[in-house]
Amino acid sequence: MRIGIMGDGISGLHLALRLQQLGIDATLFGARSPEAVRNGRALNFVVRSGSTRRREALLGVDHWTSPDTLAEARTVVVHGPEPLSFRADPHPAYSVVDFRLYLPALVETYIARGGRHVVTDLTARTAHDAACDHDLVVVAGGRAAGELFPRDPGRSPFDAPQRILCGGLYRGVGEAVPRAIEFHVMPGVGEVLRMPFHCADGRVDVLGLEAVPGGPLEPVCRIPYDADPARFHSAVLDALHRHVPDLRERVDERAFRLNRPTDLVQGGIVPVVRRAWRALTDDTYAFAVGDAWIVNDPITAQGANLGSHCALETAEAIAAGPPYDEAFCRATEERMRPYADSVVRWTADFLRPPSPQLLDIFRAADADPAVGAAFAANFDDPPAMWHSIADPEHTAAFLAGARSRPAAPASSTVAVAATGSQGHSRGQT
Ligand SMILES: Cc1cc2nc3c(=O)[nH]c(=O)nc-3n(C[C@H](O)[C@H](O)[C@H](O)COP(=O)(O)OP(=O)(O)OC[C@H]3O[C@@H](n4cnc5c(N)ncnc54)[C@H](O)[C@@H]3O)c2cc1C
Repeated sequence: MRIGIMGDGISGLHLALRLQQLGIDATLFGARSPEAVRNGRALNFVVRSGSTRRREALLGVDHWTSPDTLAEARTVVVHGPEPLSFRADPHPAYSVVDFRLYLPALVETYIARGGRHVVTDLTARTAHDAACDHDLVVVAGGRAAGELFPRDPGRSPFDAPQRILCGGLYRGVGEAVPRAIEFHVMPGVGEVLRMPFHCADGRVDVLGLEAVPGGPLEPVCRIPYDADPARFHSAVLDALHRHVPDLRERVDERAFRLNRPTDLVQGGIVPVVRRAWRALTDDTYAFAVGDAWIVNDPITAQGANLGSHCALETAEAIAAGPPYDEAFCRATEERMRPYADSVVRWTADFLRPPSPQLLDIFRAADADPAVGAAFAANFDDPPAMWHSIADPEHTAAFLAGARSRPAAPASSTVAVAATGSQGHSRGQT
């Protein structure tokens, strides 16, 4: 069997690396060489969760282990008339590595192990052409490539961006809690994220402004950087001063600047769920994974983690053998559906004004660290997270369980999944 993988982001790469481990012939197509990705604009600012790190250990690509690549803590601060704050630390630590380092390294590992990586222009036409050479074409080309697949209106929660983003890598920002992700919620205004990040220039800080469209933060998020960097920096500082003064106080104004002009991502993302497959010819199908299938707003930091989850699910389905026909596509989509639906619903919920259930959890976490710990654990378990906030009864049960649960031991290490691992786990320093 010959599998074509169109797109070499995290979804395509995790699929290619897993198929390679399983001895299945695959060709990975991408738009740019590893060098071009390394030298390009920032793509995103991805936090990779414990389960993604476990998959990376399984794939033997757990390349980043130094403390500067990890986020070991998380604080949540709710601003407004009822201020709340709590810790929700991840166990194990999150990995926070620039995808301009991460993706090229994985491509090079894949090639070094004998994998075929072809740099080409992927369009609907070439996906069609690829059908001639492959028994299945997996489309992992991200948001734009998703247009090959019909939108699922019943599952797509919105038809317009729910946040306008302005995220960048900065110098001169101080942290309150060492190596913590700091998440500020301003109901009606949006969110501010600050977190440690590892890029080609070493340790920097991500500052992400997520503006509710039409709210007071939106104009700041739309200010272009290149036209007038000084105006841009001053507008970001003013926004911090107005909305998150404690964070503003930790900024050293003389050192504050975007790390590089290319270290900025601005704009809005339309969350969308698509059908995961379509016929390319009478007997060859295209199957979507990652953002080509489902696009989420980054507010819950799930897109790349979901793409990795689906990549390994798809690899196991492919390994079960042909035919890769419509029945295969339907069954594989259904296999991924419960997990993916949870991510979509939870993310949509976080984009709306905080529900009474969510506020109950925040209040309880503010009063009891055990609740914060249980809430943190659910970030890496989307079905459990969605269950805990979907209705008041579930929230009450979650809170009762959380209060009686012993605290998780602090750890930044990951263990390899038990399923026939060919990877290895390295202790984190
Ligand atoms: C600001 C921001 C912050 C984020 N934070 C997080 C986070 O903390 N955690 C998280 O899990 N997710 C996060 N995400 C989401 C995450 O970045 C995506 O969900 C994830 O990268 C999708 O991976 P993918 O492999 O499916 O697609 P992509 O990353 O889009 O990769 C697709 C690949 O296909 C190639 N390709 C695309 N089109 C073509 C073409 N026409 N021709 C040839 N090649 C093509 C591209 O070059 C690319 O390499 C964030 C996103 C943004 C924008």
